Amino acid sequence: MPSETPADTSLAVLSDPRFLDHAPPGFHPERPRRLDAALAGVDRALARGHRRLDLAPREAVRDELERVHDPAWLDRLERTLAGPAGYLDADTYFNGATREAAWLAAGGACALVEHLLSGDDTRGFLLARPPGHHATRTRAMGFCVLNHVAVAAAHALARGRRRVAIVDWDVHHGNGTQDIFYDNPDVLLVSLHESPGYPDTGYVHETGGAHARGMTVNIPMPAGCDGGSYAMAFERVVLPILHEAKPDLVLVSAGYDAHARDPLASMLLDRGDYRWMAAQLRAVAEHTAQGRMGLVLEGGYDLSALEECVEDTVLGVLSRDPVERPAQTPQSHSADMVLRAVTRAQREFWPCLR
Ligand SMILES: [Zn+2]
Repeated sequence: MPSETPADTSLAVLSDPRFLDHAPPGFHPERPRRLDAALAGVDRALARGHRRLDLAPREAVRDELERVHDPAWLDRLERTLAGPAGYLDADTYFNGATREAAWLAAGGACALVEHLLSGDDTRGFLLARPPGHHATRTRAMGFCVLNHVAVAAAHALARGRRRVAIVDWDVHHGNGTQDIFYDNPDVLLVSLHESPGYPDTGYVHETGGAHARGMTVNIPMPAGCDGGSYAMAFERVVLPILHEAKPDLVLVSAGYDAHARDPLASMLLDRGDYRWMAAQLRAVAEHTAQGRMGLVLEGGYDLSALEECVEDTVLGVLSRDPVERPAQTPQSHSADMVLRAVTRAQREFWPCLR
């Protein structure tokens, strides 16, 4: 039997079968079976005695979307999605179910935040498709239509949160989230991503607009980084900045395409690395945000890796068992130069890096 108290071990799970109906015309890595794999990972983690709270996503309303997306773009998007199936950019397909799926995912992000703000030690995971972190204020791209994690952060601010942190560990830069909050002093975005790589943004010197200097933290890692590299990035940059920023809500853009088996990228993470990162962020949330932590599914295109990593993420968020730090290998030090550059670019904004 688990030793934890129920308050420590419950996870709100937000998903909906209608996320499966958003489907590509032929083979595409962002496919419905991804959702089944991610949900299977949640099931496996929660089967270890943790309590599950199923919450139903609901469609986002216009005001919730207009906090992060341009009204004229939303009008155009709705008109396009009401027409025959096609593409919103070179690789972002849509069909007759996409409008409902995307609006449910964005509304699910709001429902997630409402749950997180309903009490202390609240944790939740939105498992939705399409993903969201590439969607900018005025554009769908990179398999993403609406930016759910951004909708969640804006919803939290509208509900009285003072400062929200978004940690984006998807292997691709969270360019849409950066675009939306670049000049917003109330949202800290920390993105770890493979560079060079899609979408060719997220460089060290992109540190936030004039009103939000230092509130964008990009950690563009070279291909071939392993868990030890990510652990170095967490210890030297991510965790010190989070502790100094003191967010009162921690959100995670949880993509799993930095896994070694992922077909779209060249990083070397394994399931245990996600468990460690999740446990570190859980500790931050407990320290500064009364334990309030929400995860939003982004990418991850190897089905078995996705299931394993989601399972370990949930265990990292919920379990009190000690989690072993990822091993430091010769490979891990390939991140060293980048971390030095990030520190140089950010230290005028973050005394903890001096
Ligand atoms: Zn990705």
